[in-house]
Amino acid sequence: MRRQFIAGNWKMNLDRASAVALAKGLVKEAKNVDGVDMAVCPPSVYIDAVGKAIAGSKIGLGAQNMYHEPKGAFTGEISAGMLLDLGCKYVILGHSERRHVMGETDGEINQKVHVALEAGMTPIVCVGELLVERETGKTGEVIRHQFDGSLVGLSAEQMAKTVIAYEPVWAIGTGRVATPQQAEEVHLDLRKIIEDCYNKETARAVRIQYGGSVKPDNAADLLTQPNIDGALVGGASLKVDLFMGIIAGV
Ligand code: PEP
Repeated sequence: MRRQFIAGNWKMNLDRASAVALAKGLVKEAKNVDGVDMAVCPPSVYIDAVGKAIAGSKIGLGAQNMYHEPKGAFTGEISAGMLLDLGCKYVILGHSERRHVMGETDGEINQKVHVALEAGMTPIVCVGELLVERETGKTGEVIRHQFDGSLVGLSAEQMAKTVIAYEPVWAIGTGRVATPQQAEEVHLDLRKIIEDCYNKETARAVRIQYGGSVKPDNAADLLTQPNIDGALVGGASLKVDLFMGIIAGV
């Protein structure tokens, strides 16, 4: 049985004080939550402070990105070991902003996925089509291409530990959410791809989150779809009541 997993991607928002205050507010509310995995992914410079604020709570710590090399002359980059050192359990990889703003490729994302898994972290690997791709009927093809490129070379055991986030790019930060049927269709396709590449057991184990304008008022309809196992939340993860309102939709 897959456990629902709600993760907040704080992106490049907040300052140190507001990040810690948000974390503390979530810790207080999370005490009453059972049967759901929760995580927050603060900006890297605040991971340490937020990690301290959520220590001992039900909320896991994650990062928004990392580099695939373990150390060396890579100015500005952060390694898996450094994230582990700060207590990170999760790392978001291949977010659409990294793919489309920073130009990250499937090959680069794949290197990071392997390194994260070898380090014992759970990668949250994002895939998703652009609006033009959806409108021209290319969603299935794009998702398959990103899956093959970003997740190539994983053992069945590694695949089962990986979280996939289906995030249609046109729904991220736009207020335009995929319908539960649109999301479920892609989630089911992803599960079929996993079964095709691995086996039924692995396909059943992988958690697939939906991301893209999830809010308390649309969460329950999305999260009760059979193949949607949680949400990756951007904007609404910056407010305690909104994030907890989404968790209540599980
Ligand atoms: C995201 O950044 O992963 C995201 C889904 O953002 P939002 O919830 O704001 O659409």
